[in-house]
Amino acid sequence: MKKKKGILFIISAPSGSGKTTLCTRLVELVDSLYRSISMTTRPPRPGEKDGTDYIFIEKPEFMKRLARKEFLEWAKVFGEYYATPKKHILHMLKRGSDVLLSIDVQGAMKIKRLKLDAVYIFILPPSLDMLRERLVNRSTDSREAIKKRLEIARQEIARSDKYDYIVVNNRLESALDSLRAIIVAERCRVKRDR
Ligand code: 5GP
Repeated sequence: MKKKKGILFIISAPSGSGKTTLCTRLVELVDSLYRSISMTTRPPRPGEKDGTDYIFIEKPEFMKRLARKEFLEWAKVFGEYYATPKKHILHMLKRGSDVLLSIDVQGAMKIKRLKLDAVYIFILPPSLDMLRERLVNRSTDSREAIKKRLEIARQEIARSDKYDYIVVNNRLESALDSLRAIIVAERCRVKRDR
């Protein structure tokens, strides 16, 4: 029997929707799911570790890698650059491992244009008011930055119909259940290529 390729799962969500926590828990919960670590030019937030949360690099280094076509996709988000390193992911998929990318909508749409077979999941916050509250409570952003994030969130939510699944993050545990169910169902699918 031919060896199965891994499945690429792409998760997007507006900033402050709890996506990072969900993705961290998801890879702990689901067997054989590998989370890709993105590269970014943004400085680490308190508590973030290089090589675990992101690979933090300077802008000239990012541009060099971009020119060398080392990224599967990249995007400029809130004035900083983010990208998914290509080589390792393609290798993991080829050897049959499932890979989870947690990226913004621009990046997800770039992957769609590449016609790579992938499963697209959008995480919705319960409401924009709740999102505002979460961003304020996180207290990592200025009022101006929160306003900007909410505006981008509105634009991203408007594009959620391009995704295969929408999961509302009302309660962490039930959102996790839904995400796990999606992964299990996709793994049981008879035909992969859409
Ligand atoms: P944050 O700075 O809050 O960690 O992330 C800001 C946004 O950038 C989030 O929507 C996050 O999903 C997105 N992001 C993180 N890594 C990547 C990546 O490799 N590519 C793209 N396109 N977006 C990313």
